[in-house]
Amino acid sequence: MSYPQRVKVVEGRALYLPKVGVVKAVLHRALVGKIKTVTVSRTKTGKYYASILCDDGQPTPEPIKEITEENVTGLDMGLSHLVIASTGEKQNNPHILKRTATNLRRKQKVLSRKKKGSANRNKARVLVAKAHERVANARNDFQHKLSRRLVDENQAICVETLKVKNMLKNRRLAKSIADAAWGELVRKLDYKAIWAGKHLVRIDSWYPSSKTCCHCASKMASLPLSARQWTCPACGAAHDRDINAALNIKQQGILQLQAEGLSRRATVRCCL
Ligand SMILES: [Zn+2]
Repeated sequence: MSYPQRVKVVEGRALYLPKVGVVKAVLHRALVGKIKTVTVSRTKTGKYYASILCDDGQPTPEPIKEITEENVTGLDMGLSHLVIASTGEKQNNPHILKRTATNLRRKQKVLSRKKKGSANRNKARVLVAKAHERVANARNDFQHKLSRRLVDENQAICVETLKVKNMLKNRRLAKSIADAAWGELVRKLDYKAIWAGKHLVRIDSWYPSSKTCCHCASKMASLPLSARQWTCPACGAAHDRDINAALNIKQQGILQLQAEGLSRRATVRCCL
């Protein structure tokens, strides 16, 4: 349900909605600017949420045109670590879904045993929906914080466009991939970057970021998934698989930014 106008915040703890009246509400932060639209939605557990879109009168900042290489980061996305940055920082995958999977499975089993149409079945259904909601909320919160920080700390963020759909065909990995929800994280990085006048650079997925040596650019014929550390036979550089990939993604991103005239050419170094 959308309300285009005439919605008011009453004393910071209630909302006035046309035709509905005043409803108590928990406001997560103070509103800045003029309310544009309000969308009210109901979750499966019966909670109501109002998303309020405000116009603060501030124009979206112009995209930064002189990007310095120190302010570019490359991100490799993995499973044991959700995000590995070219700086060497590894962000743990919170494994939210895995942690709560047992709980969810138990509640689903209870639900399946209840008679259709019974009041108890309905109660069990709400418990399952609540467990799902908790997972979604925790994941969202984690992704918002991580994307906020990455956008604040950098002028440009380079990511690989992953063929998540193809990877989901592998059933053993599917759950972890869905859990990591890379696509959703990239979406959050994208709009937060635009709002801040920063750049999200997407690198084509065919680029062999893992198999290429970030030091001398020679490419390995193959590199098994199990090889977490490897040494380049051409130049002898020792690599951490994920950090090497992140550095290559950064390097490719910088090339794209240079091609678009957004960054000046300088020597790209490998920091290992
Ligand atoms: Zn090398």
